[in-house]
Amino acid sequence: MPRDFKIFYGEKVPDEISEHVERHLNDVFGISFRSVGLRLPSKTAWDSASNSFDAIGLVRNLNSDSITFCMWLISYPIAVDSQSVYGYAEPLKGAIISTTKMATRTLVAKEVIYFVGIVLGLVKCTNDCVMNETDSFEKLVQKPSVLCNSCKIRFQKLKFRYL
Ligand SMILES: [Zn+2]
Repeated sequence: MPRDFKIFYGEKVPDEISEHVERHLNDVFGISFRSVGLRLPSKTAWDSASNSFDAIGLVRNLNSDSITFCMWLISYPIAVDSQSVYGYAEPLKGAIISTTKMATRTLVAKEVIYFVGIVLGLVKCTNDCVMNETDSFEKLVQKPSVLCNSCKIRFQKLKFRYL
């Protein structure tokens, strides 16, 4: 487990959203999250086929700057294989989440927790749990904002393993 987990923001992410997201991350994971400021996506990661940034390319950009255990919240559309997505994460590396398709800070916080959970070593869960994979907007609205008991136990083990 990292000593702290870094958070980057793209431009135009309102304080109201960033503060809400950070509060929820602290509540759910109980580790130190640190906002390290503004980071703009590289134009080379723009995918004109989907009119979005390539999510995988942006996460690899972070890692090629030797930044791991990080989350990047941006206000531009992102895609994987030209398919629009809420977010994308690589375990133990980093995650990127786009605010563009989510109407409220509550929905943004749920997807941030899900993708940060993947970075921290959690996996998709089928219980009534924030780690449900969001394959539809309805599912995103319905799923809770917190971990189920099995994911909580799994996360405690991950913390012990790495600390
Ligand atoms: Zn779960």
